[in-house]
Amino acid sequence: MTDYPTLYLSIGGTNLSKEGRDAVNVINPATGETIGSVPHATAADLDAALDNAAKGFKTWRNTAADKRAAILTKAAALLKERAGDIAVSLTLEQGKPLAEAKGEIIYSAMLLEFYAGEIKRIYGRTLVRPEGQRVEVQYHPVGPVAGFAAWNFPALNVMRKIGGALAAGCSTIVKPSEETPATGLALVQALIDAGVPGDTVQCVFGVPDDVSRHLLASPIIRKITFTGSTAVGKHLAKLAADDLKIATMELGGHGPVLVFDDVDIDKTLDTMVAAKYRNAGQVCVSPTRFLVHESKFEQFRDGFIARAEKIKVGNGMDDGTQMGPMASERGPDGIAKKIADAVKKGAKLGTGGERIGNQGYFFQPSVLSEVPTDAIIMNEEPFGPIALINPMAGEEAMIEEANRLPYGLAAYAWTNDPARRRRLAAEVETGMLAINSASMSAVDAPFGGVKWSGYGSEDGREGVMACMVPKTVHES
Ligand code: NAD
Repeated sequence: MTDYPTLYLSIGGTNLSKEGRDAVNVINPATGETIGSVPHATAADLDAALDNAAKGFKTWRNTAADKRAAILTKAAALLKERAGDIAVSLTLEQGKPLAEAKGEIIYSAMLLEFYAGEIKRIYGRTLVRPEGQRVEVQYHPVGPVAGFAAWNFPALNVMRKIGGALAAGCSTIVKPSEETPATGLALVQALIDAGVPGDTVQCVFGVPDDVSRHLLASPIIRKITFTGSTAVGKHLAKLAADDLKIATMELGGHGPVLVFDDVDIDKTLDTMVAAKYRNAGQVCVSPTRFLVHESKFEQFRDGFIARAEKIKVGNGMDDGTQMGPMASERGPDGIAKKIADAVKKGAKLGTGGERIGNQGYFFQPSVLSEVPTDAIIMNEEPFGPIALINPMAGEEAMIEEANRLPYGLAAYAWTNDPARRRRLAAEVETGMLAINSASMSAVDAPFGGVKWSGYGSEDGREGVMACMVPKTVHES
């Protein structure tokens, strides 16, 4: 595969090859073919990255705010220029349709632009005190940040790890997923090309648990930020606690969708079916449990199935593909097991439920309905192209079911009743709520969860402030 770049580690601004290092293959999930080989950082490489991060922090934090902003703005422009090429790497390593890949890179550039603008708005405050006294609240960058990003959004997850940190004045070491390494590297390269020093933004790969243990054991790292499963998030939060490092955890969800009887069901379906199968359902804010007012249940279920069956599944590089493969071998196997468990417990399979072909990791857009609460899939994030549709008696029951799980990342509601909208905003336990919309993120709005979906925010002003600490200076 000629379009896929050679992979390297970016440490101290030097590109280190796999020569003399362990390496693992990168697989194209649409074909099962090996397309590249990603080097693993040695312990000495990671130590060098830590030393660089300490040095980089000293210079970057003292670089004038408008200079930092200009560099990040330039990097965003480079990313936009390069979006077409980077998108090819992204689709080859992760599988999503090329247009979605390009959109993700452009969105990552927009996030960086927003962060660059925020650099000029990091204000402190002066407190009222008698003449001759002065108390000032200042905000300082927390220190070097270690970021660990998942494979489902190879560009955006990485930008969320490094963009806010760089805006705040921190140095960063990022480890993108070894399954999708080229995209993260391309982002880091754009930042370096725009003028971020090579000791201030670095990119490493390795055995994930070895890398995170190594970096978190060092007192140089003052903050960790992770996107991935709740299980790994809890493990990393415990490691961070050993040295009282600040943590941002963007973990899994199990998105409830509350559909009331006062909305246009076709419009609701058009929006939510597209949202469900985006990125083959491998999205932390994916709509998953459709809780539909019983008077509209059959219309909703049948409309969902009809639309799911029309989705064009294929190689993300091909024109017209609406849904690509799942990103790895774990995907189709895991989802098939969860569907089998649900059907055994009484759920009805409306469509799909099977792997497609024997090349790559394709899975049919699937619908289960009347899924019992004790089915595994009603409790664990499916992270695949499956909708669970259940009839509900009314608002109270819907809210109770929405809040039943320990997750609280994204929730959706479809209703035109203003008073009900306010009640849902107050009562649904979630980090983000979309009403009559599938839109869950915006560069200027905080993105993050509650309960087992994690803590801390990325994006928005909060994404920068999450990498800063207050210092109060009392003078008399
Ligand atoms: P995972 O949590 O094992 O891995 C997610 C990412 O974290 C991967 O890129 C992996 O390399 C990295 N990682 C794993 N262990 C690590 C460690 N000890 N230190 C540092 N990084 C580590 O999840 P998975 O096996 O890829 O997927 C399993 C489930 O996780 C999914 O089904 C889904 O529920 C959830 N998930 C959520 C998100 C999200 O966007 N919140 C992303 C990916 C996976």
